[in-house]
Amino acid sequence: MTKILKINSISPEPSKIKEAADVIKRGGTVAFPTETVYGLGADALNPEAIRKVFKAKGRPSDNPLIVHIFDMDTFQLVARRPAKAVIDLINRFWPGPLTIIVKKKKVVPDIVTSGLDTVALRMPDNKIALSLIKKAGVPLVAPSANLSGRPSPTRGRDVIADLSGKIDVIIDGGKTRIGIESTVIDMTTSPPTLLRPGGLSVEDIEKVVGHVQRLSTSHENMPARSPGMKYRHYAPKARMVIVEGDSDAVQSDIIKLAEKGLKDGQKVGILAFHKEFRVEGCITKYAGSRCETVAGRLFDILRAFDKDGVDLIISEPYDGEGLKLGIADRLRRAAGQGKQ
Ligand code: AMP
Ligand code: MG
Repeated sequence: MTKILKINSISPEPSKIKEAADVIKRGGTVAFPTETVYGLGADALNPEAIRKVFKAKGRPSDNPLIVHIFDMDTFQLVARRPAKAVIDLINRFWPGPLTIIVKKKKVVPDIVTSGLDTVALRMPDNKIALSLIKKAGVPLVAPSANLSGRPSPTRGRDVIADLSGKIDVIIDGGKTRIGIESTVIDMTTSPPTLLRPGGLSVEDIEKVVGHVQRLSTSHENMPARSPGMKYRHYAPKARMVIVEGDSDAVQSDIIKLAEKGLKDGQKVGILAFHKEFRVEGCITKYAGSRCETVAGRLFDILRAFDKDGVDLIISEPYDGEGLKLGIADRLRRAAGQGKQ
């Protein structure tokens, strides 16, 4: 049912790219790697194809999709004339992990944008992704290629685990470089609004467009502004708790919670960010010290805890600016805590 195509990420085989592109052209679904996470691609101008994406993922229909393009002709096809600040962002950061919300043109079906008059656009920095989009000759919707709510896929095997039998093709192109999703910025507001922290730091964006406002979930119109943000995301099967506080207190609180879990007969996992530490009888996973390493490993670790059959994940806290803001956001959402 689902064809697996192994493709070389440095020099993608043209015949395999063509095979996958033909599936897209016929209205099918193809999972492919980007530099952030794997995406589930379909023709962004074909509502029937897009319905298949929502169905395979079990994605709520009011959560709009990002449209992936490979050139500026396609930008002009789907978006109204960009402001100078948008052009500056594109020149500086595309291809790359930045999604820009702009006013859309009529050609973009309502199912892509959940009826909004804006569209989210991105040019991914991955050879397989770019050659697939180019060969297909159409823009592609490409939400993360996981079952809705699960940790995002950073390897072909994660996509196979979630979507095998539900989609037409899975391209396995190795591990994705960044490991968390793109940063989403709304350029239809003044000042621009950060809707989702991610692979590109908001501080870098501010060097190009000036002040960017941050939204929090306490913000009343959050669901209307970025509909996808209201859903539980990235969640492992285990219950997950983040222990907050200063570092000594955190360590002893984690140990206490872990011992209680063990006593209750639970299989306990510990997620460490600062240093490796062991609690007898628990499975500890250390995400690394550099934030680039943590971003690359986070979803992988959450999936690994599931494979281990862990019931309770106890996590150290994680905070900071730049890429760390995106990591902290994914961690909180995985624990079901929303945006803060
Ligand atoms: P995902 O595809 O799951 O990585 O999510 C894409 C994110 O972009 C979701 O949080 C959406 O709510 C958001 N998004 C997509 N299109 C729009 C749009 N037109 N306006 C605001 N947010 C959007
Ligand atoms: Mg997703």
